[in-house]
Amino acid sequence: MEFHSSKLYFMKSLFTKTILTLVTATLVVSCAALRTTNKFISNDVQATIDLVNIEDDKVQITITPPAMDVKSTVFYLPQIVPGTYEYSNFGRFVENVQAFDKKGNPMELISLDVNSWEIVNPKKLGKITYLANDTFDGPIGQEIYPMGGTDFQADELYLLNLHSMIGYFEGMKESSYKLRISSPKNLKAFTSLPTLSTSDSLDVFDAQRYFHIIDNPILYSKPNAVSFDLDEIKVGLAIYSPSGTHQAKAYQPAIEEMMKAQKAFLGDANDTPSYDILLHLMDIDALQYFGGMMGALEHHTSTTVVFVDAMGAGELTQSLIDVVSHEFFHTLTPLNVHSEEIHNFEYNRPLMSKHLWMYEGTTEYFANLFQINQGLIDAPDFYNRMMDKVSQAQRFDDTMSFTQMSAGIVDEPYQANYGNVYQKGALINMCLDILIREKSGGERGILWVMKNLAQKYGKEKPFKDEALIEEIVAMTYPEVGTFFTDHVIGTTPINYDEYFAKAGLINGDTEVPLRSIIFTDNTQLFFSPQPDATGKLQFVVNALNPSVEAMGVQIGDILLGLEGELFPEISQDNSGKINAILTPTIGWEADKEFSVTVKREGETLTLSGKVGNPKALTKGLVENPEADADAIKLRQNWLFN
Ligand SMILES: [Zn+2]
Repeated sequence: MEFHSSKLYFMKSLFTKTILTLVTATLVVSCAALRTTNKFISNDVQATIDLVNIEDDKVQITITPPAMDVKSTVFYLPQIVPGTYEYSNFGRFVENVQAFDKKGNPMELISLDVNSWEIVNPKKLGKITYLANDTFDGPIGQEIYPMGGTDFQADELYLLNLHSMIGYFEGMKESSYKLRISSPKNLKAFTSLPTLSTSDSLDVFDAQRYFHIIDNPILYSKPNAVSFDLDEIKVGLAIYSPSGTHQAKAYQPAIEEMMKAQKAFLGDANDTPSYDILLHLMDIDALQYFGGMMGALEHHTSTTVVFVDAMGAGELTQSLIDVVSHEFFHTLTPLNVHSEEIHNFEYNRPLMSKHLWMYEGTTEYFANLFQINQGLIDAPDFYNRMMDKVSQAQRFDDTMSFTQMSAGIVDEPYQANYGNVYQKGALINMCLDILIREKSGGERGILWVMKNLAQKYGKEKPFKDEALIEEIVAMTYPEVGTFFTDHVIGTTPINYDEYFAKAGLINGDTEVPLRSIIFTDNTQLFFSPQPDATGKLQFVVNALNPSVEAMGVQIGDILLGLEGELFPEISQDNSGKINAILTPTIGWEADKEFSVTVKREGETLTLSGKVGNPKALTKGLVENPEADADAIKLRQNWLFN
């Protein structure tokens, strides 16, 4: 998964210096298990979903199991699913769960906990029925990452992450499923789930086992999709854009370029036959509902991406490149390199692996490294990205053992540090990469390690969680072992400067693009809330960026609004309304014309101009002009070999 959340939110106190922070965070992954045991049950589980007769924003679901010759059984919705690393308790989203015998008479069903229901006499069981709620509204939906959630909008859109809709019976996770979905005529299904038949009103899908039900999300929307072949891989992209602004065709060239570059980077380490991208562009209200969270969740042959429709084409393109490349690199790990805990994933009593530094960290590192390696970004951009991770990692506990955190990730205090797998997790891999390049004279890096592991293990063969690090050390150098002992298993913070120095990089002044036009530098807005003579808060301009300066905004102006929309009274209660005015600036492109309303000496003025490309001078990583030949060679090999 990845949390690429561009997040604009109010901090607790309005009187703190920076009340608004735009945070770039990152989210999750997963992989799931391939299990081929217990084939004794041969009949399908039949599941039906009715997307036509929606009542009260709820979808009717029926599950018909094959004949069961057991004394009792339990029907489950997952507590947790691969790639999310948190308890989701999807049972919370179904209601009115009922069991019926083969003649249609109600049967006894005992609710055991939020995710499980015991069927007392399963020999008689005909079917289970229930209603599923979506996760894009309601009191608890925001607790589910939007990319792992469900969105029901009658006759308009259905985003189906089936783990919150379809359950499984105890001991029958390996049974095959036939999934029948009745859908409105105007909506078309997009999914990597194999289709048995399709018509205007009924689609029938085939899942070899329960894992395939949850590994293949489905997007029902008005047709807006492209499909193309890229060497041996078939790529699909479907977009739901509520405004109709974003058309799949327009993003095909960028996705093609990106995936070609990824394949070139991975070489023979990739053999994915097809890959589908399901892109749901939510509106600003939904973005606010999720607290600014956006991102993607990986699956074996597809990914669900949720961004916001207000993004400009350029912003959306770069976000797709960053996020989809991350998800696609998950086809390396965990798909082809994973431990037994992931291979035999238990949806309702999970055991976690110690190696999030790899599943998420290596993946996120590669999602950045391949871009410079293949010429999609330049070196300063790559350095800024790594330095941004260094600074984001400071928000988390730098002395927490990464392996211990990983094994305990679903519980505190580890869960609160989960976001660090995308920050420090990536940096761990960067340091390992530099270290292995140094020791091997530039020949080998962390990609070489991963390719070897993928060759040895692959989809069907998990590694022993305890043995992985030893194995990596055995194929590399003792110094790699020391690094793991100190900084991944151990609690010693990494001195990143030491590794940058090996590659001839030092701290210096560098320029970074502003996160949006309302910023003045890397972290601060160009205005801040200050009380007037009566104690009422107002946004006072206290710094400028070149674009707003060129429009005529002056220090001391009172900022009243943006794009003709005026701020309500500045208070915590109104933070949602204020954010709704400010948040769209994240997606504004350089050529966008916009206006601000300010008050100056009692007079209200409307000033307008273009967003442009304002940059901020910041402390960053630069190439040391005095670096020696070895350091320069190491840097070249690290970035471009
Ligand atoms: Zn991920």
